[in-house]
Amino acid sequence: MSDSISFHMSADDFRTFGHAMVDWIADYHEHIESRPVMAQVKPGDIRAMLPATPPQTGEPFVEIMADVDRIIMPGVTHWQSPNFFAYFPANASGPAILGELLSAGLGVQGMLWVTSPACTELEIHMMDWLVDLLDLPAKFKSTAAGGGVIQDSASSATLCALLAARERASDFTINRSGGTGRITAYATSQTHSSVEKAMMVAGLGREQLRLVETDDTFAMRPAALAARIAQDRSAGFIPAFVCASVGTTSSNAIDPVRAIGEICQREHIWLHVDAAMSGTAALCPEFRWIHDGLELADSYCFNPHKWMFTNFDCDAFFVADRKALIQTLSILPEFLRNEATKSGAVIDYRDWQIPLGRRFRALKLWFVIRHYGITGLQYHVREHVRLAQEFAAWVAASDAFDVAVPAPLNLVCFRHRAGDEVNQQILDQLNRSGDLYLTHTKLDGKLTLRLVVGQTQTRAEHVAAAWTHIQAAATAVTAQRALKVSDP
Ligand SMILES: *Cc1c(COP(=O)(O)O)cnc(C)c1O
Repeated sequence: MSDSISFHMSADDFRTFGHAMVDWIADYHEHIESRPVMAQVKPGDIRAMLPATPPQTGEPFVEIMADVDRIIMPGVTHWQSPNFFAYFPANASGPAILGELLSAGLGVQGMLWVTSPACTELEIHMMDWLVDLLDLPAKFKSTAAGGGVIQDSASSATLCALLAARERASDFTINRSGGTGRITAYATSQTHSSVEKAMMVAGLGREQLRLVETDDTFAMRPAALAARIAQDRSAGFIPAFVCASVGTTSSNAIDPVRAIGEICQREHIWLHVDAAMSGTAALCPEFRWIHDGLELADSYCFNPHKWMFTNFDCDAFFVADRKALIQTLSILPEFLRNEATKSGAVIDYRDWQIPLGRRFRALKLWFVIRHYGITGLQYHVREHVRLAQEFAAWVAASDAFDVAVPAPLNLVCFRHRAGDEVNQQILDQLNRSGDLYLTHTKLDGKLTLRLVVGQTQTRAEHVAAAWTHIQAAATAVTAQRALKVSDP
């Protein structure tokens, strides 16, 4: 026996507290509806409860857990609540959480094939499965010239796509000798802000991002894109990248990918398709129209961590030509050289992303897909869309509210007819109540409420209750305002 001291948690304690933690999480999910959806704290409230300095000596784990309840939970917004209808869903699920736990337990660093072959090979396989599951173009498969990789977020996927586009358009010279400031990219005012950020990070400059006009559904106008490209070319710019959105964050607008793709092919411009939330809908054949023309894209991403029951982070990023991506992001310092890499027989995913290190994220995806099966995944996505459509029909039939734009899938944009101030008051009252959580956007300059049906446990009764609360809030707000007006 060694008599050296250890401060580590013993295997027995890990077992005890691990079981307790799983119980805690199960209880949390089981009783989540009793909590106010949106955290009801003020800035600084949580920090005020934390000690000013770290502990000199280690503390018992039970005390740490007690502080989770006392300090942390009041400041948690319950994204996993079935009454969470804000922003976009950020799904967790039993199999995903267990996959995440196993990934932490294995503690693998999967930067190269050789640093854990299963980490890379399961990921390649899951990405190929996703191509089948969503019926994506076959060129995105590892068995073709393309392939998929898990990124931490759609923002990173977009950045990687933009970098590859930048290099392809410059004959891979910008990586070596820097840019000339002539490369331009195209999106719309509705495109996710990550594209503008990617332009900044890639050193291309946000002013070189052209915002192409949209139509009355907030989708990109292909003719306006073609015109802007022509204008830029004649001014000596190098158009290199277009981002089309399948389901914008603001209003779920779906850009016409086929028409945009035809322009990109003709002009030799990299087309990236961002389907962060809505891509998941393609699990169901009846929603695959959203991907019409995707075979013309150079890259594509969607987030299983939004609507496919896989906890953050897990963005699935696909490229049609993996060589362009690898050539853009590959560097090989001596300490990473190894036989497998040299043989060319393996994928080293560190060449497919910005960081070097990577977690074993494919496990949670594997668990989710195997747990639900195609049937289970399709059932829940279909149900979410059905419930959102039902909600949209209630709104459309009401005297007080209107549907603001067509709702193609699971996001409904709507507003009270009495204008911005009333909509803001309704929103504030609902979110203060803790009964549900909604967020807003601006469409045509008007404050618009958004209801997204996509949380793992959201069912018909939650959407029905949301509509009841929304109507009640509207009645209360308009009554209060009537009183104020009549007040002398
Ligand atoms: C949510 C969203 C993003 C950003 O996703 P991250 O994974 O958080 O970077 C990008 N694009 C669209 C269309 C989105 O809805």
